[in-house]
Amino acid sequence: KINFSAGPAILPASVLQQASAAVADLDGSGLSILEISHRSAAFDAALTEAEALVRELLSVGDDYGVLFLSGGASTQFFYTAMNLLNPDETAGFLDTGAWSAKAIKETKLFGKVNVIASSKASNYDHIPTGYTVPDGLKYVHVTSNNTIFGTQFKEWPETTTPLVADMSSDIFSRKIPLEKFAVIYAGAQKNLGPAGVTLVIVRKDLLGTVQRELPSMLDYRVHIAKSSTFNTPPVYPIYVMMLTLRWIKEQGGVAAMEKHNERKAKLLYDEIDRNPKFSGTVANPFSRSLMNVTFVCTDESDTDRFKEAAAAAGCDGIVGHRSVGGFRASIYNSMPYEGVETLVNVMKAF
Ligand code: PLP
Repeated sequence: KINFSAGPAILPASVLQQASAAVADLDGSGLSILEISHRSAAFDAALTEAEALVRELLSVGDDYGVLFLSGGASTQFFYTAMNLLNPDETAGFLDTGAWSAKAIKETKLFGKVNVIASSKASNYDHIPTGYTVPDGLKYVHVTSNNTIFGTQFKEWPETTTPLVADMSSDIFSRKIPLEKFAVIYAGAQKNLGPAGVTLVIVRKDLLGTVQRELPSMLDYRVHIAKSSTFNTPPVYPIYVMMLTLRWIKEQGGVAAMEKHNERKAKLLYDEIDRNPKFSGTVANPFSRSLMNVTFVCTDESDTDRFKEAAAAAGCDGIVGHRSVGGFRASIYNSMPYEGVETLVNVMKAF
């Protein structure tokens, strides 16, 4: 099967092999990764390596904390606001999809929200352009890749206000200008590993500026001070993330990932644009995601037949989200070029 699922998503075969071996016996000691203490030397080594790889691959300096938390990206929707925004302060938002809308809703519980631009009126089929970021905002929140709608920021908002980014579905897929970001968060289950851990990269100097009391588990500073082991962290997902990060490094890091992802996405978008049987749901090439490619059958009555043809070729999980319909091929870092070629060949034959 070729796994085009939006998430939990494809992982490199070599990572799956190492991850399953570690379940049987982590390091020859006879203990499984599922059985070891989060205070053990073996886990400490994995956690330390995972953090070092995040720092190396994205050039993250000591002015940022790197955290491995639980609760998913959905917890970060309010966590970021709790830690950064006072009730009388305003966070700017670029509303580019269902996940942005959820982050906006949660942020309103803790401070003010200014939606600077939105593509909601056209069912989020593009990334807004031509807006101006006003002065006086505490931060500007972006969803860098909109998993459901197949859109992605190619240029970051023009502002010196720090950005807070939900990068759940495109982290480590391309180079990023880290200095623009106050917080980057990402649920692991697309480009990094199994569900259960959320990677958070947070600029330390912005913490401690809110007046509210924070529960320890919801205070970035506590997790930074305890190197993500304030409580029992998600040991196995962190271990698998470490293996995936090693794999990304072996492939040549994020610059190599970016090239690989551009090549794959071009192959698929070129076929969507060439083949009259299909139409892309994101018309503007500037907005098209390199990670989630959304398209429909031009004649809707072809939909079930194409679904069957794709399934017969082993293409799994290409059904579109219910709010867009049609098809969504998720082609994250671990999707090989040959996987996309198989899908494109099915489209050509169709
Ligand atoms: N943000 C984006 C861009 C997503 O794609 C998703 C899930 O698909 C989420 C947030 C929610 O993540 P979680 O399920 O980890 O809370």
